[in-house]
Amino acid sequence: MHPWISQRAGSFDSSGIRKVFDLAAQLTDPINLSIGQPDFDVPREVKAAAIEAIESGKNAYSPTQGIAPLREALKKEVSAKFPHHGDRDLFISSGTSGGLVLSMLSMINAGDEVIYLDPFFVMYPALVRMCGGVTVPIDSYPDFRLDADKIAAAITPRTKMILMNSPANPTGVTASRSALKAVAELAADKNIALVSDEIYSRFHYDEEFVSPAEFNDQTIVIDGFSKSHAMTGWRVGYVHGPSEIIAAMLKLQQYSFVCAPQPSQWGALRAMEIQLQGHIDDYRRKRDLIMDGLSDRYEITKPGGAFYVFPKAPIASGAAFVEEAISRGLLIIPGNIFSDRDTHFRISFAAPDETLHRGIELLREMAKR
Ligand code: PMP
Repeated sequence: MHPWISQRAGSFDSSGIRKVFDLAAQLTDPINLSIGQPDFDVPREVKAAAIEAIESGKNAYSPTQGIAPLREALKKEVSAKFPHHGDRDLFISSGTSGGLVLSMLSMINAGDEVIYLDPFFVMYPALVRMCGGVTVPIDSYPDFRLDADKIAAAITPRTKMILMNSPANPTGVTASRSALKAVAELAADKNIALVSDEIYSRFHYDEEFVSPAEFNDQTIVIDGFSKSHAMTGWRVGYVHGPSEIIAAMLKLQQYSFVCAPQPSQWGALRAMEIQLQGHIDDYRRKRDLIMDGLSDRYEITKPGGAFYVFPKAPIASGAAFVEEAISRGLLIIPGNIFSDRDTHFRISFAAPDETLHRGIELLREMAKR
């Protein structure tokens, strides 16, 4: 390692995902089921609002906490959802990722333990280590269910945070209302920070979305427009939680991200008025298409949300299976990027139907042996 590189930067590695993208770059016309963003484009009205913002000179820094109209609109939505939460403040972050970074920086001291489910979103362990924290992954195989008893058993005097993600990346699994309630109450009882990454909240197919904040008014909720409105490159997220925590996060935002891009925030304000139901219904249908196509050949948990499925590979190593799939033109992601285990792989069904059909056909063939 180069002598200038900090222990912080050396404390995690991103070579796994890079290897997949290097292999992918060699493919012509791949069947691409690897993308973590919707396959529809940003709604036209949202583009128009951002263009109008740029052309009318809204190109400077915004306030650290975000432009007032967006913040007010989101606050209104949040207080309607949680009318009994008195002390809840909200700010606009630079994507959900920005909110995650700031929640770690504002709450994690060296040696603090952070509990989250394995499989996990790739950023979680990296961010915990970046802040000198200790990762405490909870094995959730084979059905990836949130189990409050397993979380309770992992709590120690050093536990500082429980980081939740329902619907989850990479499994698409949604936590039940009763499990969310149990974990939310556990966190409250033990005075542990509960952070809920709700970026897939609108992609919820079978039941109504439930936030753990419903059961714990100290929950820090992180959400954003990246997935819901296909705005991953626009970098607009938001965080709401107890006002003292939000103030600490804003102090850190002021000296790091500064603010979310101002034109994107005007786009996001317009995005709040857009009906998403058509897209959600379409993704529910795509979820069913994948499940119908693969569940007789693969061990696979039906996802209740997001746009991922996480089947078990038919050979011992998920990574070896993915390498073979890529060599045959199918782009999927090995499970060991999201897990301490190397047994599964991630499919994203945010893709055109034709691509899904080609992927299913090849995966069915690869399962036969
Ligand atoms: N959380 C999860 C669970 C995600 O899957 C992603 C994106 N892949 C993010 C956060 C980051 O999203 P954003 O673009 O808002 O930073």
